[in-house]
Amino acid sequence: MNLATMFEFAVERYPSRIAVVEEEKRYTYNQLNKEITKVASSLQRMGIKQHDRVIVVLKNRLENIIIYWAVQKLGAVYTPINHRLSAKEVEYCVNDAESKAVVYENASQDAVLHANFQEKPILIGLGAVEGADIYYDELVDRSPGGFDKPVIHEEDIALMLYTSGTTGMPKGVPRSHKNEYSAAIAHIVQNQYTDQESTLGTMPLYHTMGMRSLLSIAFLNGKYVVLPDFDARDALELLSSEEISSLYLVPTLYHDILSHHDFHSYHLGKLRKIGYAGASMTTALTEKCVELLKPQVFVNHYGSTEIYTFTICPYVHQKPGCAGKPGLNQNIRLVKADAEAKSLPDDIVGKGEIGEIIVNLDSIEAFKGYWNKPNATQKAIREGWYFTGDLGVIDDEGDLFVVGRVDDMIISGGENIHPLEVEDVLSKHPKVSEVAVVGEEDERWGQIVSAFIVPIDPSITFQELDEYCKSHPKLSNFKRPRNYVFLKQIPKSPVGKILRRKIRDGEVELYSGENQIV
Ligand code: ATP
Repeated sequence: MNLATMFEFAVERYPSRIAVVEEEKRYTYNQLNKEITKVASSLQRMGIKQHDRVIVVLKNRLENIIIYWAVQKLGAVYTPINHRLSAKEVEYCVNDAESKAVVYENASQDAVLHANFQEKPILIGLGAVEGADIYYDELVDRSPGGFDKPVIHEEDIALMLYTSGTTGMPKGVPRSHKNEYSAAIAHIVQNQYTDQESTLGTMPLYHTMGMRSLLSIAFLNGKYVVLPDFDARDALELLSSEEISSLYLVPTLYHDILSHHDFHSYHLGKLRKIGYAGASMTTALTEKCVELLKPQVFVNHYGSTEIYTFTICPYVHQKPGCAGKPGLNQNIRLVKADAEAKSLPDDIVGKGEIGEIIVNLDSIEAFKGYWNKPNATQKAIREGWYFTGDLGVIDDEGDLFVVGRVDDMIISGGENIHPLEVEDVLSKHPKVSEVAVVGEEDERWGQIVSAFIVPIDPSITFQELDEYCKSHPKLSNFKRPRNYVFLKQIPKSPVGKILRRKIRDGEVELYSGENQIV
């Protein structure tokens, strides 16, 4: 079994169902497969062989999906990277992956053409770009038609994703066909997807979440509606006009969709299943999702590029913030965050105690290590467990709550404070749109809690936020922010994760030019 075969089964099953929609283009499974075969045939003629890496620097477009499946048919390795990367970053990834070809478009042209490649890859251009050796349209129009089918094993690498770099340089994560199809099947089950699901393809394909959506929808002969540049109004238009039934997005995108001023003028009656991953969702946003989207299924997925989903919570509407229990084929433990020896089971923490979340690799989801990074691999995998770098706590019902990253923990006067617990409280304030909390150096306390707020209402004051925190039963006095800063927006990664590093370094845009110590 491999991804190409599973896709071909889907094509055979329902050839005339709509597979991908991009504006006026509506491709059925059959049409899509025909174009994929043409592209695969051209790529093979150009010298792309089994196991070759093909770097793709495209937005979520129909052509990107076609290239994905064409690369799968050849047994090569689809290696997508963010189209917003700089020339240096593109260069790093292409050299690191020793990529045979690079597919690019207008948005990534400058970076690709200014990169310094160790070995020049074949440059494949999409649309009116400069510098291409060949253009996508030629791959289709001048295709020889057929290709030699390689024998693809399920342990062969199908995909290489680069980690988003929230905490440092991106690292390549190779994923086998088996990793990928088992993750897609788990995704179908864990989201309760059924036949003829339709989704919005706006989570980037260079991120694990984008890949999960694409594959799970394809294996079910569903409809994948691409939205290359996320915009809340466009998303609402498509959710309504394409009668989208399921969504899998980062919390930020739910926030943007639900807070759009025209939200109530769209009919989203077909939307039944919503899921999120990538970051914690505040209680306030969870409640807003329930109230405004009225989902029948609402699932929190906690996972990472390395392993897909560690835990899932299908009752997050009743227990906001809860990451639930291990997913199919998963097993987790919580260990002392400072445990150097990592000698299990001695390092396992008790119920209710905070510890680092580690994930067992003894499953079909197994992650074997980073591409060309033995040191990072050694740090991440110890004694058959993957160390997530995240802190969590398990409650009396055996449910996991992700508390935050080990590195983001604030230590103030010797007390540990986790940004998420403070953010959760502040996000419920009626004048707060978004919030990010970081630790700031302080001579007396070591660190103090600093809250960066995007206001909804310009009348907001530091004093009222401080009063609110003082009177909040969930926030002990030592966790109360001692510093507030109003921002125009919270710096986020391309997939919507808070970039605390940027906030700490002051790379922010102030809302009113004010900043006050309470
Ligand atoms: P890098 O590894 O390059 O720093 P990254 O860690 O952001 O980037 P991802 O694999 O995209 O790369 O993210 C995984 C991390 O995202 C998890 O370790 C966790 O910190 C966070 N995360 C993912 N899902 C959730 C969730 N449902 N709730 C809370 N945090 C989550």
